[in-house]
Amino acid sequence: MTQFNDLIKMIEEPVQMNVVENVNTPEPEPNFTKILPNLTKVYEPFNIDTFTKELYDKSAVRNQLYREHAQNISAYDIASGCIKEIVYKLSNTPVESFADSWLPVLMRSTIGTAIHEFIQTNSNQFTESEVSLKVPSLRFSIRLDNLIGQNILVEIKSCTYTDYEKIIRTRKPRISDFYQTMAYKYILENHLKEAKDPKIEIRKGTSKPKYDSYDIKTVQFIYVAHDITATDVDSFGEALQRIKDLKRMFNSKSNSFFFMTTMLVDVTNEIATPYIEYVKNKISAINHYLDNNLLPGMDDPFIDQSKCFFCMYRNLCKKN
Ligand code: SF4
Repeated sequence: MTQFNDLIKMIEEPVQMNVVENVNTPEPEPNFTKILPNLTKVYEPFNIDTFTKELYDKSAVRNQLYREHAQNISAYDIASGCIKEIVYKLSNTPVESFADSWLPVLMRSTIGTAIHEFIQTNSNQFTESEVSLKVPSLRFSIRLDNLIGQNILVEIKSCTYTDYEKIIRTRKPRISDFYQTMAYKYILENHLKEAKDPKIEIRKGTSKPKYDSYDIKTVQFIYVAHDITATDVDSFGEALQRIKDLKRMFNSKSNSFFFMTTMLVDVTNEIATPYIEYVKNKISAINHYLDNNLLPGMDDPFIDQSKCFFCMYRNLCKKN
């Protein structure tokens, strides 16, 4: 008989207590003030619907804290943000809900951070990592991934297999990634003195640029594919086929890092000029709106309506 059978037996046959009845002992008064133990909590297995709700609530709180205190233009703002959304954010505009409209984005960003850490902590090839470029006079604060000496800027990017396949086939970085690196180049080469100012506080875990001058001649992208949250495939079969095709494209079964590639872009020629102009103009336009307490009109060249679906300010935006 197992211990479970014993248990069942005990429940079925209550243990007899040897109580000696004393007829003279008065019945105890019921004690209504006695504090009863808490009712047993009912535990339930992990539930994905509940988890989704938990994520929704957390993302709302987290985004609200960030958006209500955001004071600086980020690299993402420059690379792919709609200017009106940036101005709403930097003027700390409240909205009904700050929750992310696509919650897997939270997991995707956690995976992205882990990929960065994995590469940075396991390599000695970088001379600087997590470099903070904070320039309060431009309301600008960004953090670049890595530098190798004074001439090579390295940007780590995690991406979907769809993007990865396109990057390998075309041998071109994603356009928003290139804009981001041009923002780093622009600040390193034009606003280094302010970025190095020891009086300006920077985020823990980052450091200020170490050299007194930079001349970025090469931009290197390290692309790492992950597809776990991708919504651009219709089935698991399609995702697996995509990975098989990629392995074939690399023509190497023995390359266990087939999901990681690097790409060098020479920026010594005129290639960088229009991108640097774009970065400069966008920073100056955002500062103009904020200094004058204005909202950009829908005809502003930096309005990007392809971002409306994920925009927290879309209801507000329709009204003004
Ligand atoms: S709703 Fe669209 S146009 Fe309006 S701020 Fe957001 S992204 Fe820009």
